Amino acid sequence: MRLILLGPPGAGKGTQAQRLVQKYGLVQLSTGEMLRAAVAAETPVGLQAKDVMASGSLVPDEIVIGIISDRLDQPDMKNGFILDGFPRTVPQAAALDELLKKKHIKLDAVVELRVNESALLDRVETRVAEMRARGEEVRIDDTPEVLSKRLANYRTLTEPLIHYYSERRKLLTVDGMMTIEHVTREINRILAAIGAVEPKVVSAKKAVGAARKTAKPAGKKVAKTAKKAAKAAPKGKKTTSSKAGRVTGAGRKAAPAAKGRAAGTAKKAAKKAVRKASKKVTKKRAKR
Ligand code: AMP
Repeated sequence: MRLILLGPPGAGKGTQAQRLVQKYGLVQLSTGEMLRAAVAAETPVGLQAKDVMASGSLVPDEIVIGIISDRLDQPDMKNGFILDGFPRTVPQAAALDELLKKKHIKLDAVVELRVNESALLDRVETRVAEMRARGEEVRIDDTPEVLSKRLANYRTLTEPLIHYYSERRKLLTVDGMMTIEHVTREINRILAAIGAVEPKVVSAKKAVGAARKTAKPAGKKVAKTAKKAAKAAPKGKKTTSSKAGRVTGAGRKAAPAAKGRAAGTAKKAAKKAVRKASKKVTKKRAKR
């Protein structure tokens, strides 16, 4: 799976990226982290980036594009990756498209964490306080003044990417104001809906149970028919419990494919049988 996480500073991109790394074994490519490492190691790139980063401005496109291009060539990329903090400008996005095309890599989706700007300052202040409490070094660009500049840069330079990826039907938007847990769940749900990850599985046995419940009002006969149909359904096939909900762009395009894969499942067969049997019961009643 290859993803981009998009959102302003403090939206929770890093936290969610970590969770995706844990769950799907992806590699997190954070240009901010890479640049901070370069600054700490005093490499030529680090020396060039140091003051720019401290002021809250963006490092020149060529530098970050070069870093990402080199990184994509590393062997650990084969399991997939999450780009966090890159691309940040339209020229960076266009360069990434070119790079991916040249390297025959397909981007699955761009997940935008949409947040309320007024909450971001609070979030960053909390993050700084927590880091201080843990005795960790605090980023020099995590001050209210620099954050305001980073937010302004996001609005003018990065936000146009929402339109860029929406036009390319890659954009999935998640409400980043929910709790961390909820955001994670929502990301997993939409990734399953577009078929980028395995959907949550439900056994055929559970599907029969569900069919029985639905069948109850129509009588025992219906439940029996549902059970038969579920047995007759192809073995080993799983059914999804995820709802294809607020999915836009890539989701709308890919969701039918994901649904298609789940076709022919026990749940479907059971539901069909329930409908058929219900019709029979209604007809009989009508005759009487
Ligand atoms: P981040 O950790 O993503 O907030 O990035 C910290 C800083 O690194 C940013 O404020 C920029 O100065 C620089 N930076 C990170 N990613 C990029 C990028 N894609 N383009 C330009 N500058 C970047």
